[in-house]
Amino acid sequence: MTCGCTASIGEKDSRAELWIYIFGNRSFPLLGPLSYNMGDIVGIGYKGDAKALNSEQRERLIEKMTEKFNIKRADVEEHLKDGVVPIKAEGVTLSICRAHFMMAVLDSRENDSDWDESERDEDQNEDEESLF
Ligand SMILES: [Zn+2]
Repeated sequence: MTCGCTASIGEKDSRAELWIYIFGNRSFPLLGPLSYNMGDIVGIGYKGDAKALNSEQRERLIEKMTEKFNIKRADVEEHLKDGVVPIKAEGVTLSICRAHFMMAVLDSRENDSDWDESERDEDQNEDEESLF
């Protein structure tokens, strides 16, 4: 179930075309606003909601992942079964749903979390290894 948080790719980002091809637009629903470490090469990412993919989007995603990253189709499908579409954080702007926004506000009173980190929209184009 998508909470309302979404990730959007910048219009001028090198990945924008890929997003439009796969998703049909430049934004995609997230499972939540928290970032996670996707590994040394890709770096920080967000968890896209794989359940939000319709069958055509899913097919195009698999096509691009197998083609671009030389990953086996079965491996991509296995990954999607976990419910996660890995989205590289760089160049992506978050839109945070009300519930998560309220949680962030409450949370930041207790400690300095890294919430505000994710709001930046950086314009960098050196991401050959990136996913989405
Ligand atoms: Zn949310």
